[in-house]
Amino acid sequence: MAQCRLILLFASLSCLAVAIVDASAGDSDPIYKACVEQCEKTGCAGEKCFQHCKFSSDGVPIDGPWYLQEPLYQRWKQWDCRSDCRYQCMLSREEEREKLGDTPVKYHGKWPFKRVYGIQEPVSVALSALNLAMQFHGWVSFFILVNYKLPLRPNKKTYYEYTGLLHIYGLLAMNCWLWSAVFHSRDVDLTEKLDYSSAVALLGFSLIVAIMRAFNVRDEATRVMVAAPLIAFVTTHILYLNFYQLDYGLNMKVCLGMGVAQLLIWAIWAGIIRHPSRWKLWIVVIGGGIATLLEIYDFPPYSGFVDAHALWHATTIPLTYLWWSFIRDDAEFRTTTLIKKAK
Ligand SMILES: [Zn+2]
Repeated sequence: MAQCRLILLFASLSCLAVAIVDASAGDSDPIYKACVEQCEKTGCAGEKCFQHCKFSSDGVPIDGPWYLQEPLYQRWKQWDCRSDCRYQCMLSREEEREKLGDTPVKYHGKWPFKRVYGIQEPVSVALSALNLAMQFHGWVSFFILVNYKLPLRPNKKTYYEYTGLLHIYGLLAMNCWLWSAVFHSRDVDLTEKLDYSSAVALLGFSLIVAIMRAFNVRDEATRVMVAAPLIAFVTTHILYLNFYQLDYGLNMKVCLGMGVAQLLIWAIWAGIIRHPSRWKLWIVVIGGGIATLLEIYDFPPYSGFVDAHALWHATTIPLTYLWWSFIRDDAEFRTTTLIKKAK
């Protein structure tokens, strides 16, 4: 994600748009709290009752065959009961609040979204899938260009020196959008960690791509010297988030630091270099910056579906297209320059 990197940067920033969980007004509301508590005990919220809540107060199931009484299954069931109760209580509380003329509030760090077939944020899921498709299209078209359309070196390698790096970038980007779609479908501990981890990995790798491309790092030893400390840092951070503490504030700082660093690299590079397609990079950088404002000016979902975060995921679709288009131009540009030099 770099200018090509800048562009890359923006694309990664967009993927990073995982919600920052903050203190929410909704879940400290006494009526909501009482509703969830009651529901977890009785299995019913108002007139709606949940099958998942069929266990007695000490966690022992009331009925069912032995395999449904495994501790893991029970925990999962209990978790599902809580999730259903929270959702039902949130809906009824928001309905009451709407009648009183109040605006929506967040519950457990998230806006009150309406589920569709059990999917928590259907619009964000659909947009993540589109982003995934766009990354796939960009990656495949890049692959075809460098391997089949452009001439190859006598040793059958591509003239473009960043082919390998961009293949890894493409895989990490697709991985990131896959887990983004899963996370927005169902927000649980595991899906959240997978989403955050893949976003951090993508952002960290896009920083490496930015440095390599902007500083023309082509020699193997220098590449290892640049990449090793960054990979070590990103790996440590991911392990920390997953196995020690999912610290949203710290993660925000790390991501912002890596994001701003690559943005600056691309911006300066795009300003200095005489690259025929640098305008594409500029649009990606500026567009990404504007899109990030959507994350800052967070607003509640319109009719329970489209919020700022979903819109953010929408803006990264055209930016991803431009980014890969810049990469393809860059590959052609470098190949032409290198062949000219060889002659
Ligand atoms: Zn998201």
